[in-house]
Amino acid sequence: MSLMAQFGPQWRRRRPKLPLLGEPAARTSVELPERLVYTVEQAAAEQGSPVRRGQLLGLESDVPVLAAADGRLTELRRIKRGRDGHPVTQLVIDTKAELTEEEQAADPLFPLEPLAVDAAPASLLERFERAGVVAVSRVPQALATRLRVNAELLVIGAVDAEPGLSAAAALAQGAPQRVVAAAKLLAHASGIHRVAIAGLAPTIDALRGAAEDADIELLEVPPLYPNGLDELVARAALDGDGFATAVPVESALAALDAVEKGEPHVLRTITARAADGNTRRELTAPAGCSFADLLGAAGFELRAHDRLLAGGEMMGAALIDTDATLDAWVRGVTVLADERAAGFACEPCIDCGDCATLCPMRLQPQWIGRLAEYGHYQRAAEEFDAERCVRCGLCAYTCPAGRPLVQWIELVCRETANTPSAEGGAA
Ligand code: SF4
Ligand code: SF4
Repeated sequence: MSLMAQFGPQWRRRRPKLPLLGEPAARTSVELPERLVYTVEQAAAEQGSPVRRGQLLGLESDVPVLAAADGRLTELRRIKRGRDGHPVTQLVIDTKAELTEEEQAADPLFPLEPLAVDAAPASLLERFERAGVVAVSRVPQALATRLRVNAELLVIGAVDAEPGLSAAAALAQGAPQRVVAAAKLLAHASGIHRVAIAGLAPTIDALRGAAEDADIELLEVPPLYPNGLDELVARAALDGDGFATAVPVESALAALDAVEKGEPHVLRTITARAADGNTRRELTAPAGCSFADLLGAAGFELRAHDRLLAGGEMMGAALIDTDATLDAWVRGVTVLADERAAGFACEPCIDCGDCATLCPMRLQPQWIGRLAEYGHYQRAAEEFDAERCVRCGLCAYTCPAGRPLVQWIELVCRETANTPSAEGGAA
């Protein structure tokens, strides 16, 4: 089944035309800032201690968080996050701090000794863990965990899921031979025999020569949102039957670097998009640097009413200031001019059905929204499968009543996570 064929004609007619980008922008490396900040749920370092590049600082949702540079841990702040006041720890590393002679004399943690790409799968998976390789995506995971699954298909995502972002295309088109080598490495490490690389036409063209003699499929993604989302690429490739695991191209390349060069996964490549909606930069930056550093490196200035998003304009999270830092959840940085920002009116649902027509996961966002609005989270989760939502945002984008449907779906998923019992009461 092709990517376009998996939806009905009404869906194809009514969905908004949001083009995906296959042409990368100019690339810039962000200098190491004086301060790197990481947020973890379980800290593995102590205040005042020296920190080495690649050192495990802690875990965030079971994802390893590694220091991107040497320095000293000068602050360890315990804060509460989110609606439920979930306790987390922020670790501040001063990258310019002076280390004692004894501290300087300690052996660096990286680079590790190179490993053969055809080493035993268990050794490769262990190396990915040691190097902190993360499958950077909407729901990040340690790469080794993502590969330890029983799947029919491994998809390397060399496509940027959201309009306005192009970092995956930049990485893939910049090193096609390495992308193919990384795909083969992950196939060997995971034992998944069917491997595909998904990309827009310019990326597929760039990869074709390198993939010629490799047993790897190239999946050309139609250049419209939301075709590049992992779930939709996998569904189309498997013809709706079977299970696929997806690894973004950045993570695949980081895995290859961990094996061949012994390097940790501490650099991220993301797209920064300016308020005019057209100007872009691909930024390679150390994890832990602030959005202020990213915007400065891109040469973008925030005007008084500009909004800032961690991600693209369909799935990005709104930021209230530029102190937030780059982590494995961030896929880009978008400056949004005030007039382009969507406002929520939160009027009553008029039952137009547009949200359900456009939902690529065939959910009924109008019902999830109504139930969530009145606090019936469990019923929304159980009867309307809220957890299958991929947060594409198309329902809210199209809703004429301006209902914050994605926020409600998020709320349902958060409130019902690990809650086995049914909720009392009815809508
Ligand atoms: S955000 Fe979720 S519910 Fe809304 S259209 Fe996308 S997948 Fe469907
Ligand atoms: S698009 Fe908005 S108004 Fe229309 S059915 Fe969905 S929630 Fe209701």
